[in-house]
Amino acid sequence: MTDYRAVRGMVDILPQDTPRWQYIEKTLAAVLGSYGYSEIRLPIIESTGLFARSIGEVTDIVEKEMYSFEDRNGDGLTLRPEGTAGCVRAAVQHNLISTPQKLWYMGPMFRYERPQKGRQRQFHQVGVEAFGVGTPDLDVELLLLGRAMWRALGVGDLLTLELNSIGSPEARAQYKEGLVAYLEGHKTALDEDSQRRLTTNPLRILDSKNPETQALLAEAPELHAYLDDASREDFQQLCELLEAAGLEYRVNQRLVRGLDYYNKSVFEWTTTALGAQGTVCGGGRYDGMVGQFGGRDTPGAGFAIGLERLALLVESLGNGGEQSSDLYVVVADESAQKHALSRIETLREHKPAWTIQMHLGGGSFKSQFKRADKSGAAFALVYGETEVSNNEVTVKPLRSGGEQVIVADNQLVTYLSQRLSQD
Ligand code: ATP
Ligand code: MG
Repeated sequence: MTDYRAVRGMVDILPQDTPRWQYIEKTLAAVLGSYGYSEIRLPIIESTGLFARSIGEVTDIVEKEMYSFEDRNGDGLTLRPEGTAGCVRAAVQHNLISTPQKLWYMGPMFRYERPQKGRQRQFHQVGVEAFGVGTPDLDVELLLLGRAMWRALGVGDLLTLELNSIGSPEARAQYKEGLVAYLEGHKTALDEDSQRRLTTNPLRILDSKNPETQALLAEAPELHAYLDDASREDFQQLCELLEAAGLEYRVNQRLVRGLDYYNKSVFEWTTTALGAQGTVCGGGRYDGMVGQFGGRDTPGAGFAIGLERLALLVESLGNGGEQSSDLYVVVADESAQKHALSRIETLREHKPAWTIQMHLGGGSFKSQFKRADKSGAAFALVYGETEVSNNEVTVKPLRSGGEQVIVADNQLVTYLSQRLSQD
């Protein structure tokens, strides 16, 4: 016996849960398509330097959460902790930023974190990135797109939008000084993490969960007092557009996000339904990033959805549940199986959307019907000696009660189409 188990924080998604995942993935892809966003598929591994440079050297992710390693060639590589850096890298490399470009991607991300509900070491995101538009109408579109996705999944009522502007890098640098000056005066009252961040990443102190630190922050200088004019105007326009679109939001001046590349608008969609891991989606503008990666200066904005957290929300409402099969094929013996095989393949060709399970492994009618019941199928198709010689099949309802009916082979598609659509 081996006792291998999945690596801590790496989670198997089991067959009972994959229907919900497929439902979420399909729904999100459809909404994204309807807003004119195209899918891009990116490698899971990138150069370590790419993340250090874009996310920021002193962020939590780069300091302590990345899975980095050297390959056999000695190159420093990292399992991507997020998707924006790789997406911008690809957009610059393939010259996709010359026109307004609206992209999305989906896949696993890796961060060495303490696993808990809604927090894993391998988790999944759908990311959305748009390049080439510097005006707040893009920010609004991204937020409307978010709302459309929540609504499509039926979780719209569970999510609220928090919004902030963190201004230009220069304005933020000045604010940082003001904040540090204030907090230095109260250093001993800060929690340990925040004391450390005072010299490394002081803005992160704003979203400290420590109540005493939060109390201190109530008197701290406000970010919006430091905003540059352009950021202030854009933020006001953004708010006006959101009101015009009927999208409710709450301005939260302490919302800063954990990644360095953002400027101007930042936002989070949060829920109270998931306990501590309440942020389902986060994003904002990153106008400097494309230029920083060697592309022509091009504005950009985007967001990423945490799919595990979204799946927990969808599950809490009982949506996207298990798909049951439609038909289960029961055969009397080997010769009935031979007869059934070709007929069932024809049925599958006609009706590719139906889930048809062929009984495998033989056994008595009784044991086959047991499995048919367990499969959740609506009907059993039974091939016995009589059916085979008469070119017909017995259709036996498994869930709705009702009588079994003998149907001629050439009537089967028509008959089942009616019965399955009523079901
Ligand atoms: P948090 O504050 O919860 O750590 P974050 O600010 O690090 O989140 P982002 O980097 O903005 O998160 O990622 C966007 C979304 O991805 C998050 O809002 C969350 O839903 C999801 N996410 C981030 N880290 C994890 C993780 N370790 N496990 C599961 N989902 C995650
Ligand atoms: Mg995090």
